[in-house]
Amino acid sequence: MTEKPYVVMGAGLVGSLLSIYLAKRGYNVEVYERRDDMRKTAISVGKSINLALSDRGWKGLQGVGIADEIKKIAIAMNGRMVHDIEGKTNFFPYGKEGQAIYSVSRGGLNCLLMDLAEKHGSKIHFNQRCKSISIKDATAVVEDTAHKETTVAAQRIFSTDGAFSAGRLQLQLSTDRFEYSQHYLDYGYKELVIPPLKDGGFAMEKHCLHIWARGTFMMIALPNIDGSFTCTLFFPFEGKESFAALKDSDMVSAFFKRVFPDAVPLMPTLLDDFANNPVSSLVTVKCYPWSHSDKLLLLGDAAHAIVPFFGQGMNCGFEDCTVFDQLLDTYLGKGNEEEAWTKIFDEAQKLRKPNSDAIADLAVANFIEMRDLVTHPDFILQKKIEAHFSKLHPDIWLPLYSMVTFTDLPYSHALKQGKKQDAIMKKVLATQGITEKWDSPEVEQMMLKLVKES
Ligand SMILES: Cc1cc2nc3c(=O)[nH]c(=O)nc-3n(C[C@H](O)[C@H](O)[C@H](O)COP(=O)(O)OP(=O)(O)OC[C@H]3O[C@@H](n4cnc5c(N)ncnc54)[C@H](O)[C@@H]3O)c2cc1C
Repeated sequence: MTEKPYVVMGAGLVGSLLSIYLAKRGYNVEVYERRDDMRKTAISVGKSINLALSDRGWKGLQGVGIADEIKKIAIAMNGRMVHDIEGKTNFFPYGKEGQAIYSVSRGGLNCLLMDLAEKHGSKIHFNQRCKSISIKDATAVVEDTAHKETTVAAQRIFSTDGAFSAGRLQLQLSTDRFEYSQHYLDYGYKELVIPPLKDGGFAMEKHCLHIWARGTFMMIALPNIDGSFTCTLFFPFEGKESFAALKDSDMVSAFFKRVFPDAVPLMPTLLDDFANNPVSSLVTVKCYPWSHSDKLLLLGDAAHAIVPFFGQGMNCGFEDCTVFDQLLDTYLGKGNEEEAWTKIFDEAQKLRKPNSDAIADLAVANFIEMRDLVTHPDFILQKKIEAHFSKLHPDIWLPLYSMVTFTDLPYSHALKQGKKQDAIMKKVLATQGITEKWDSPEVEQMMLKLVKES
């Protein structure tokens, strides 16, 4: 009798990568995806929505040897370019020289991951929506676009079907004491575009993430390989300055000219894009447990959807895959297989949960930094002092952004250290004359003492 397949629900970013990890180990992997094959539907591939990939994500891709392939479609962003209300710009590097986060097209990355998944032997079934899962025996019911249902008997099921996961809902319905929370921000987002110049070049500096921080709202722009930028406006749903308040094209035009004056001339399709593109919501989802015996495991957004302000949702999901694969190395091939898989599922959730909770909280906090603090002189000075001190003492001070973005230190560690650092920096910034003596030996000694005491 042939072994039942290892079923992955959802061929998004995390499901596609996970299926490569499983197929490379020789498992019979079947992936079920609700949508059509985006490689064949021009609309999805053409969409230039992009994401920032950083070290944890690269590590996840490297684990199956595909990082170099993905680098070909990525653009390095070395820092933030902050645009003020007069159109003046200020550049702030993300880390040390040579460190960068990378802009990749979500569609392009997903297509490539699906190609590679198939190349390694995974079979992807499109237009198949997971309706329900029997968690006792890993049997799922999927439904096609004509509502024809198929029952799939799996060896085990990996639910990587995103923030509104059917697998998670099943755990909620079928188990006792399932913890679940969802929290929506009062903000939504809308995607807009800055097209390439006539000669195909970039209309703004290519190697940065552009931010128009306006206190209570912001717009960001990330570069695409075709010379365009995808802009995202993060804006309140309701209120004086909000999506609801911009009722017609004249209001949109006047508002953009007032708050993003340097961007408007670069956005010829602004009014059409604003009218036609949807406003999407921003949700944090936390839940626990993520698994049931050796039959079902949630990973990626299905287990932990977070808001995008640290650029870590996908990176965190790819790190789930890295950790999961390490657990397979640790437990497989040593005794009873069912027990080993139960242990792997249980350990995966125990290792990842505190970290996904930490990055969820950090991501919410970072919204305030991005939309407001980046323009405040005290905040800019704080970042300058931290970078300087970190250069002198890299072993004892790594700024929070670097810990999250350029290392694989646990997110929970980064959160804890970040709080300590903030408390220290409050005292440092309160020192008389700090603006003049921020890089003096006196401040360095003070910080060394405060770190020792913390
Ligand atoms: C505006 C925005 C910007 C972001 N920017 C970044 C960033 O810069 N960096 C970063 O790391 N992260 C970013 N993220 C987060 C990132 O998009 C997610 O964390 C990531 O897509 C999660 O991948 P996933 O595979 O778990 O889920 P998804 O990408 O949502 O994939 C889930 C897949 O499952 C399928 N599916 C859903 N339900 C079913 C079902 N019932 N049956 C079968 N299939 C199903 C879906 O069609 C989809 O293909 C951003 C998110 C948003 C909203």
